[in-house]
Amino acid sequence: MRGFIDAAADLLLGASCPGCGLPGWGLCVGCRALLEGPPELIDRSLPVPVVAACQYRPILEHVIPRYKDDGALHLDRTLGDLLARAVRGLAPPRGTLLVPVPSRPAAVRERGFDHARRVAAHAARATGLGSRPLLSRNQPGEDQLGLGRDQRARNLAGSMRARPAGRPVVIVDDVATSGASLREAFRALSEAGGEVLGAAVIAQAEKLPQHSAKACTPTWRER
Ligand SMILES: [Zn+2]
Repeated sequence: MRGFIDAAADLLLGASCPGCGLPGWGLCVGCRALLEGPPELIDRSLPVPVVAACQYRPILEHVIPRYKDDGALHLDRTLGDLLARAVRGLAPPRGTLLVPVPSRPAAVRERGFDHARRVAAHAARATGLGSRPLLSRNQPGEDQLGLGRDQRARNLAGSMRARPAGRPVVIVDDVATSGASLREAFRALSEAGGEVLGAAVIAQAEKLPQHSAKACTPTWRER
């Protein structure tokens, strides 16, 4: 029954563009065009490079919640392809594993699926790499929404644990805001003895100050 309801909801949610709301199936041509472009190197104070495929606004701020919270599972591929683009930006060697930043268990139960694992698995298939959920949360973890940068960092410090990978890894996530989750994931994986090559995200949500954005390739947002 649950599967049927999911499929019906997916069908209904697929009837309009998740980016701009135009009628049609999936992401429209206009929104797709706005998400084109090379991945960007972004600064989130990690000792390894962090690459984002796109800006969060104005398209993905609608698309990602529609996928995560409304269960529009047909967006697996769109979001997985964008994540794959960011992963390629890091040029990871064969055998590298993509390791998703773990969702809060309560959120996964509520949604009925683990969006981070699904998107990571798709990006892994698209890039010929593997994906493995090596990270988990020590405590339920508060929702980070609406918290300031310092609060997020305090909330997250020591909140994740990792199983050893035995292979180089790339941390993957949907949106990079302050970067606190990525830094915590990096800490946990490194302490478990993993070689972390970098982090790849679908979207970056914060505008960086001009001086730290120098290394970034200009995107359609800046034109
Ligand atoms: Zn659209």
